[in-house]
Amino acid sequence: MRSGRIVTKIKEESIVPPKLKAFIINTLRRASYRWKNRGEAKKRYKVKVGEFKTGRAKYGYSCAKCKLVFKSGEVQMDHLYAVVDPIKGFVGFDEYILRMFCDEENFICLCSGCHDEKTAVEREYRKKFKDLEDDDLELELEYLSFIDSYKEKA
Ligand SMILES: [Zn+2]
Repeated sequence: MRSGRIVTKIKEESIVPPKLKAFIINTLRRASYRWKNRGEAKKRYKVKVGEFKTGRAKYGYSCAKCKLVFKSGEVQMDHLYAVVDPIKGFVGFDEYILRMFCDEENFICLCSGCHDEKTAVEREYRKKFKDLEDDDLELELEYLSFIDSYKEKA
């Protein structure tokens, strides 16, 4: 169901107290850092950037958006399609878990700047969709083409 009104109704009927829900979500998020598909996906972005004096290869990670290469600690693996769909909002833990512990293909590597930017735009869309009285196909397409701009070009 995509109607904003129906989603709101589901939210109101949730019996999990907000504080417990936040605790569970935080715990799942931390567990997801060890999700194997996340680590596997990061390998796609690994590039050799040089060699140490010892001859050992030096690696960096390229950002899916700006294409610049960064040190491992300077990039984050992000969900291409956000864990909570900005269009539908939170609809339940089954969907939440499946979207968080997703396929390798849904993880993209972003530098901090590009990650912050994507998160901020997603937050804007989240707000827009939440305020809708009914479906807005045009806005959905606009959001999906924003996500497309992060996909790797063949
Ligand atoms: Zn970047």
